[in-house]
Amino acid sequence: MSNNMRRDERTEAKKSLSPPIFQTATFTFDSADELEAFHSGEKDAFFYSRYGNPTNEAAEKRLARLEGAEASLLYASGMAAISSVFLSLLAPKARMVIPQESYRHTRDIAEGLLIRYGVCVDVLAENSVESLEALPDGPVRVLFAEIPSNPTLRIPDIGKMAEWAQKRRARFIVDSTVASPALFRPLEHGADLAIQSATKYIGGHNDVVAGAVSGGLDIIDALREQQALLGSILGPQEAFLVERGLKTLELRVRRISDTALKLAEFLAGHPNVSRVHYPGLESHPDHQRAVQYMTAFGGIVSFELEGDPDKADELVNTLQIPVLAPGFGGTESQVEHHVKMAYADIGIQGAENRGITAGLIRYSVGLEDFEVLRDDLGESLKKL
Ligand code: PLP
Repeated sequence: MSNNMRRDERTEAKKSLSPPIFQTATFTFDSADELEAFHSGEKDAFFYSRYGNPTNEAAEKRLARLEGAEASLLYASGMAAISSVFLSLLAPKARMVIPQESYRHTRDIAEGLLIRYGVCVDVLAENSVESLEALPDGPVRVLFAEIPSNPTLRIPDIGKMAEWAQKRRARFIVDSTVASPALFRPLEHGADLAIQSATKYIGGHNDVVAGAVSGGLDIIDALREQQALLGSILGPQEAFLVERGLKTLELRVRRISDTALKLAEFLAGHPNVSRVHYPGLESHPDHQRAVQYMTAFGGIVSFELEGDPDKADELVNTLQIPVLAPGFGGTESQVEHHVKMAYADIGIQGAENRGITAGLIRYSVGLEDFEVLRDDLGESLKKL
């Protein structure tokens, strides 16, 4: 006995407004002739979900439009996207350049995995064009940058870095997760590839882990082929959430940025706060560049308290609205004492060696009203 659907009962998707979730490992063919037409390139079709899935394709097309890219490719996480790009572009003895203030696990890949495979990695102590110019001559395969950087929100001179990469014939890879394509589109400023942890603003609801790479068709096709081998695909349920997140990305990020700027101004004027890192403030060392490159300043506000760094723990304990959690970019505000959350394995000294000061608080603003977040912060700061 079989309760399977008959061959002639299988249907194409109806004219659904939202992309259906194609929860299937494999796609089917009506005949050997149809299969042959597919393999010869005469007929376009899906084959097996490791090679592509229509739900993922819908999200990839929407993201490519937002990034101003020829194509996008989804991955199982932001880290899967970053590691796959590095693995595809680098080889033993090839050189890559990465600034010190990059996301810690991106540096871990460069300085751990890639070095183990014989890649030469230059870590820039300062992310300036002068320090790039000071690098020794010789071929460079990959130049990497983050805008804004996580968690200190530095804004590199992307345009000048792109010129340098072109001069040295390096591929220029930009992770713009903290800005999201709503605020900054790396490909318009000379990057070859734009990377997103779609877990953050793109997914936007703290309910999906995903990554994406956008760029020219040739390079994305090559990455797609590599992905079919490495298997780092995103499942269709997650791809659906990414596609849905993209629909409201711009609205959410604009609202979050408005609130974040007001909160940064509030914190900058507070006597218990010694330093605020937010590119929208004139006091930020890269404010002019932020104005030049970004359409708003994003949703992360990092800050330090007057006095003992342990007060950061007191503050995160006292706050009532943001959840104490790693991550950022969702509808709910999140807060963390950064070295305690993200560097627990290597401790405060290890974090300081990587340029992160003890006591740095990273506040990811969500969709709550500004006044509610301000009052919560004001009350908690008063109690310190
Ligand atoms: N890039 C940046 C700038 C990040 O902040 C993160 C995670 O926080 C990642 C990449 C990694 O993304 P995922 O957690 O989706 O793997």
